[in-house]
Amino acid sequence: MVKADSVHKSYGQLDVLKGIDLEIAAGEVVCLIGPSGSGKSTLLRCINHLEGINGGRMWVDGKVVGYDIKGTKLHEQKHNDVCRNRTDIGMVFQHFNLFPHMTVLENLVEAPRLVLRQKKSQVTARALRLLERVGLADKAGSYPRQLSGGQQQRVAIARALCMEPKLMLFDEPTSALDPELVGEVLKVMKDLAQSGMTMVVVTHEMNFARDVADRVVFMADGNIVEQGPAAQLITNPQNERTRSFLASVL
Ligand code: ADP
Ligand code: MG
Repeated sequence: MVKADSVHKSYGQLDVLKGIDLEIAAGEVVCLIGPSGSGKSTLLRCINHLEGINGGRMWVDGKVVGYDIKGTKLHEQKHNDVCRNRTDIGMVFQHFNLFPHMTVLENLVEAPRLVLRQKKSQVTARALRLLERVGLADKAGSYPRQLSGGQQQRVAIARALCMEPKLMLFDEPTSALDPELVGEVLKVMKDLAQSGMTMVVVTHEMNFARDVADRVVFMADGNIVEQGPAAQLITNPQNERTRSFLASVL
């Protein structure tokens, strides 16, 4: 579903991704962990084509989404493919990013209507099913400000799913939540993982990683330092940097 081949990304002089090689199979759940500033969010944005890359190649679902920006010609040729491909990727952010002036239902229906040009009745039916699935069927007519942080994040997940993505990216989805609201969001994510969705989750929730992830990838300083099955990496890390990072979050 995702393949990164020696992906480099820099902002001016600052090298943020220094040659990322990563493959994620369809149906796999990967947790991405690492210290602040190590490049986790940047890697997600490159997978989602919110950022161009400065070297290497990136594929999602077999299609190129990122390439060396020197390859201008290729970029022009593939631009339409890239835009279409991005609608296959759902993204959930730390700060929910719901449309504040729209109801919950309108938040879900907006993109499938405008971007995918699907019929209102069809999208609405799917949106209501998804709200049911995340436990918010009774909030369809509410506005984001009337919901708790945990409820807003569940709406954000349902909104992303309403585009029927093949891949879901989560960037610290519970980091902005009060501790008592974290569990309800993780439960929705766990259900989604068990339904077979391919997921990349940046998180500091090591219990979630251990229970749900097939694989944990540890990044530091723009590199993948170590990766492996969740239980193995968390309980028996091989690299000193992985060990000291885990000691700081566990
Ligand atoms: P993480 O998500 O692991 O905390 P980020 O990917 O957000 O790390 O950031 C990695 C590095 O890239 C940091 O040093 C950050 O300051 C820098 N960075 C991220 N986005 C930008 C940007 N748009 N412009 C300049 N520097 C950036
Ligand atoms: Mg980040």
